[in-house]
Amino acid sequence: MTERIHNFSAGPAMLPLPVLEQAQRELISLPGIGMSVMEISHRSKPFDEIIHGAESGLRELLQVPEGYHILFLQGGASLQFSMLAMNFLPRDGSADYIVTGSWGKKAVKEAKKCGNVNIAATMADGGFTRVPAQDEMKLDPHAAFVHLTTNETIEGVEWKTEPNTGEVPLVADASSDILSHPIPIEKYAFIYAGAQKNIGPSGVTLVIVRDDLLKRIPDGLHTMLDYRTHVENNSLYNTPNTWGIYIINLVCQWLKDKGGLEGMHRENEAKAALLYDAIDGTDFYRGHADSDSRSIMNVTYRLPSEELEKKFCAEATAQGLDGLKGHRSVGGIRASIYNAFPLAGVQALVSFMKEFERKNG
Ligand SMILES: *Cc1c(COP(=O)(O)O)cnc(C)c1O
Repeated sequence: MTERIHNFSAGPAMLPLPVLEQAQRELISLPGIGMSVMEISHRSKPFDEIIHGAESGLRELLQVPEGYHILFLQGGASLQFSMLAMNFLPRDGSADYIVTGSWGKKAVKEAKKCGNVNIAATMADGGFTRVPAQDEMKLDPHAAFVHLTTNETIEGVEWKTEPNTGEVPLVADASSDILSHPIPIEKYAFIYAGAQKNIGPSGVTLVIVRDDLLKRIPDGLHTMLDYRTHVENNSLYNTPNTWGIYIINLVCQWLKDKGGLEGMHRENEAKAALLYDAIDGTDFYRGHADSDSRSIMNVTYRLPSEELEKKFCAEATAQGLDGLKGHRSVGGIRASIYNAFPLAGVQALVSFMKEFERKNG
């Protein structure tokens, strides 16, 4: 099959077609190198240029100021749940966690193994449909850090502005909405993201760490689990995912060609609005998240019954609209429309939804 279908997968997710095409052209031999990116040393000059390109691309797109390091690690966002707590949560200290969905819960589970966790707010009672207001959070002014999930991929709940954490460093899992819109990096002390939603292929984890945090790291951590190792070695202490970093470099180029994150944000807003309008326009579809906390990346909704949801997914798949089944833990429908997902795919889904309602509503 050479035809590409509309891929609503939550992750690994679609990559931009021009990126795949360039990677295909260069797969056997990088221009002027005569070898694939997967066959060259991570300490070679060509790879040095690639990793620097990826780093400076991200720095430019996200407007990362001086005083932050950008790292390319492995182990996914899931390893960061543990690693950030090992590095920044002292045994006798406490960290605040704001839980707005399933990934936040997983982050809490790991942090508890390192120290005390204060659940500053959890939206579990309402079924994770929104982010808390400032006055709903019980923030501890002495916390080691405040952790949140910028976009809860499973529930489709996204923060629109950062909470005020005062002097306490803000730490964020931004796996599923990083690069979808500009972010005020200076409000964050630490950001991490698995690459496979908006940055590149799986197997790379992006970390952006403010330098002053590095001074808090206790001695005695395993070398690979100590952020200072990766800062001091420019992410080349051990062999990184060279292929993944190469693709990230291409994705950054693609984003810059599209007008950077502001241009990308406008497109993402337009795609999400089209879909949310279709959901709001009828009682047949019911959006999961409250309108002010709705994700522009993962659009979650329900149909009148689970039988209809099953039928919906089966018929959509048959029409080349793939990956719409909600996460097994919450059910329903989830349309993941990350940066690389085209407007035409959203239009196709909206037409399908209208037709499906006409036949089954
Ligand atoms: C996908 C995802 C994760 C898990 O990422 P892995 O790279 O598979 O460990 C964590 N947090 C969020 C918000 C995610 O979307």
